[in-house]
Formats: sequence, C-alpha cells, structure tokens
Amino acid sequence: MNNLNPHILVVDDSNVQRDYTISLCKNCNLFNINSAVNGVDALHKLKTDHFDLAFIDLEMPEMDGVELLRQIAKLETPPHIIILSSLDSSLIISLKTMAQVDGLSVLGSFKKPITIESIKHSLELFKTKKQGLNKQWNSKKVPFEQIQLAIHENKIELHYQPKLSIKGLILNSVEALARWEITPGVFIPPSDFILVAEESGLIHQLTMNLYTKSLIQKKLWEKKGALFSLAVNISPFMLSDPLLPDQLIEITKKHHIQPNSIIFEITENALSQDQSTAIASLAKLRMLGFGISIDDFGAGFANIQQLSRIPATELKIDRCLIENIHTDPHRQSILQSAVKLAKDLKLKIVAEGVEIHEEFIFLTDLNIDLVQGYYFAKPMDSNKLSQWITQDLAPLRNKIIQTSKK
Ligand code: C2E
Ligand code: CA
Ligand code: CA
Repeated sequence: MNNLNPHILVVDDSNVQRDYTISLCKNCNLFNINSAVNGVDALHKLKTDHFDLAFIDLEMPEMDGVELLRQIAKLETPPHIIILSSLDSSLIISLKTMAQVDGLSVLGSFKKPITIESIKHSLELFKTKKQGLNKQWNSKKVPFEQIQLAIHENKIELHYQPKLSIKGLILNSVEALARWEITPGVFIPPSDFILVAEESGLIHQLTMNLYTKSLIQKKLWEKKGALFSLAVNISPFMLSDPLLPDQLIEITKKHHIQPNSIIFEITENALSQDQSTAIASLAKLRMLGFGISIDDFGAGFANIQQLSRIPATELKIDRCLIENIHTDPHRQSILQSAVKLAKDLKLKIVAEGVEIHEEFIFLTDLNIDLVQGYYFAKPMDSNKLSQWITQDLAPLRNKIIQTSKK
C-alpha cells in the first residue's frame, strides 16, 4: 500500500472528526494527507492539486457533501471517494448511488465514526483499482474512432469471473467481462468505453465480437470436460433491435453451444427504456432456451411490477445492497424482501460483489443460490481461470469452510 502513497483529502467541518479520520489514516501508514474544512475549500483544493482519494463528510455548512459530490463529478480527474456521514444508512446508500450514477468511483460509504477496518478495506479496493484496471489510466471517455479501431484489430479481450454455489462453493458459471489492455498491464475500464460504444451504436459490433470470443473459449472448456455455464453482459440498448435474438441464436448454434448453458445479463435499467420491445426480445431469448439474468438489482429504480414482467431466470443483487450487509439492518430488510420476491418469481438469486467473509456468512443464512465477488475470485483471463479451477478453488473452499467454523 505504501508504495502507492495516495494523495488524500479529508473533508469535514468538524475539527474533531477530521483529526480522527487523519489519525486513522496515519495508523494505516498513509501520510500524504491534506484537509479541507468545507465544500468550497475542498473544491478549491481539488481544482488546484491532484488527489487520489477523498473522504467526504455529507453534512457541512456552505456547500454540503451532496453538492460537493456533484461538483467533484465534473472534474477532469476526480479522486476516488469515501463517503462519511451520521445520516440514516438508507440516505447514505441513495447518495452513494447518486455519486456512482454521476460517474464517481465510490470505494465505501460509512456511518461516522469511520473504523480502521473500513479504511483498510477501502484502501484495498483502491489498490485493486489502481493496480488493476486503472493503472496509469486516468478515467476518461475514449473517442469513438479509437474503440472502432480496437474492435477492428481485436484488441478488446475477455476476463472471466466465477459464480459459485453458496452451498459447497461449487463452480456454477463464469461471467465474461470486457478488458482492453492498451499497453502491457494498463487496462481501460469497461465503464470508459461501453458507454461510448452504446451512445455511438458500436455496442452491437463489440458485443457480437466478444460473444463470439466467449463461445470459442467455452467450446475449449467443454472439450476439456468443464461444463459450467457462461454469463454474458448485453447492453439494454441492444434489446430494441428485434433481430437480436435470431442473431444470438445463430452464432451460438454455429459454435455448437447449447443455449441453456448461456445466461445473458441485462441491467435492471433496461426496463426504463422502451419496455415492450425489450420484453419481447427477452421473451424470445428465453423461448430459444437462453437464461436471462437481471443485473445490478438494487442499484437503480426498477419496481416490483416491472420485474415481474421480465421473463428472467436469475436476479443478481448489486454490491450496493451486499456491502457491509452484516452490520446494516436497513440493507438487510431490503435484501430479505428482494430474496422473497425472487423466490416467488422462481428466480435463481446471485449476490454479487461479495468482498469479505462476514458478508458471505450473513448471506449463507438467506435463501440465495450463488455468490460472486473478490472474496472468492477476481475476473481473470482464460488461462488463469483454468489454473484457478484446478489449483486454487479447492484450497479456497477449505479455507472458507475452516474460517466459518471459528
Ligand atoms: P457488471 O456486469 O455488474 O460486472 C460486475 C463488475 O463488478 C465488474 O467490473 C467486476 O470486475 C466488478 N466486481 C466483481 N467482483 C467485485 C467485488 O467483489 N467488489 C467490487 N467492488 N467489484 C467487483 P468491470 O469489469 O469493471 O465491469 C463494469 C461494468 O461494465 C459491468 O458491470 C458491465 O455493466 C459492464 N461491462 C463489462 N463488460 C461488458 C461487456 O462485454 N458488455 C457490456 N454490455 N457491458 C460490459
Ligand atoms: Ca454483469
Ligand atoms: Ca452487476
């Protein structure tokens, strides 16, 4: 962590709280710290200096944390954010969602006073983002022409992240996630090019290119006897094309893959667009035998009635409802009703973004089916995944079972 030496800004109007957060950071061997006493002061510092991380208090006079977050989102290279507040946790979750919708990377949102564990955890996430996807890449939208060229030159690859059964941690499926390595070890995150691809209409070409790659990979796994399913992200924008289901089944058949071993993941906000066409496309895909997963459930605004109309087979609960679930009664009650709803609709339930043992243990007491997240495995290339399955999965399973007994 030290070698990353992030430049940190602690924004809080209370001297006591600010000093407390700074002292915890120092306990984590972080010393490159500045502070700001209100939103105006913070914004001025953020505009004149580069910061990697900012702790933002939501309740401040002059410019409150909510307004400050909106202003930060407009900066060229905004810092990663950790939200602090003494507000109700439901409000903190809403504001975190708002910040993420505005394009900010929120590493955590915590009720005050923040604990050293929460800081360490957020730093781990920061490290992952810094060393993995965002290494040397300052988040920005990539120009359309560059994406077009990358698709044309086959530069966009796939990494795969396991989904495991909650009981027994058996590999159920892998989710294919787009990865664009511009130079060795430097990746442009999907959030920087998927959106541009969607807005420019390139998403169809990109998805078909990636889907074909994942089918070829799946066939290779099948030949080795590995029969887990493959989950593929489909942009909601594509559902308005009535030809999509036929095109997908055609490629699938061409690669001799059974549709019932493929799950298409569609974000819940697909429902806020042209509903009837989207539902028709999804129904057709279901009838062709594909699985349909409602992705990011809980992060948007879909209501129960909309959900019940989707011909889905799976519900993926977003990390915003899983994060610190073991300590948060508000999230627990939302999650419990989501689980009940999904069971009534006969959907398989996946918890995504499980990062720590305590979250996993809480989930084991709920009636959910699958888990996915950094706690088990990060997305990895196909070679690493094969190695993970043969060498790492069994020891991981034993370690988790042993830790659960303690
Ligand atoms: P998603 O489909 O919800 O994928 C999950 C994202 O969470 C992935 O980010 C994954 O790396 C990350 N993740 C997994 N486990 C954890 C965890 O324990 N903690 C945290 N904090 N994050 C975790 P990634 O790969 O950056 O993808 C971001 C989004 O970009 C995806 O969200 C998906 O919406 C989109 N995307 C990625 N690949 C494709 C693609 O091929 N096509 C389309 N249409 N969208 C894609
Ligand atoms: Ca997904
Ligand atoms: Ca998701």
